[in-house]
Amino acid sequence: MDTTEEKAMEAEVLERINRGIIMRTGAYLTNDHFLISSGRHAREYVEKRLVTTEPAFTEGLGNIIAQHFAPSPVDVVLTSGIGATILGYCVAKAHPSRPKLLYAVKGKGKEGKTEVVLPREFFPFVYRGSSALIVEDILTTGSTIRALIRMVEERGGRVVGIGSLWNRNTGIKFHCPFFALVNRNFPTYLREECPLCQKGVPLNTEIGPAVGGSPRRGRGTRRTGS
Ligand SMILES: [Zn+2]
Repeated sequence: MDTTEEKAMEAEVLERINRGIIMRTGAYLTNDHFLISSGRHAREYVEKRLVTTEPAFTEGLGNIIAQHFAPSPVDVVLTSGIGATILGYCVAKAHPSRPKLLYAVKGKGKEGKTEVVLPREFFPFVYRGSSALIVEDILTTGSTIRALIRMVEERGGRVVGIGSLWNRNTGIKFHCPFFALVNRNFPTYLREECPLCQKGVPLNTEIGPAVGGSPRRGRGTRRTGS
């Protein structure tokens, strides 16, 4: 076995360990029948909101991202969204440059395109020649990350890296170094073509977006008897 193969194996083992950690938060579910947000069906499910619920795990995973980008001096860690900001805090805390932690506010611009706005108070920290490390929890389309890169570059800053817990879009390419702890894009099916539906496996109605049109409530929580 050559070193390339060994490295690939090592990466696979590390990914499995990281996936196991995320699984322990309850954010990653397998061997079931889920309705996902696109309306498609899948055997696996990643619940974005649960992924940062265990502070010790988030710290450990944030630490791995920080170590990966440790050779790059970083002025700011930049995020958008609450989950990403919890992770970003852990990355910023563990990075040897002692970067500041900033977050941008998400919105929809023209034609429903994802836009991010940097609060004015953060302007002095993203300037010409400054370095930013972007942190995202779950990467699905990459539109938020692209908007963040644009924002930094428009202000004359440079994105030295993008770190993520889970990359669901394994075909994605950025022009900045990208690192995800887990790269996994599981298969999804149209309802009419879903092998689980064909086998008569009941759809999990406890988990998943707007099952039966009702808003998502109390998912992933266990009854406590109160
Ligand atoms: Zn199905």
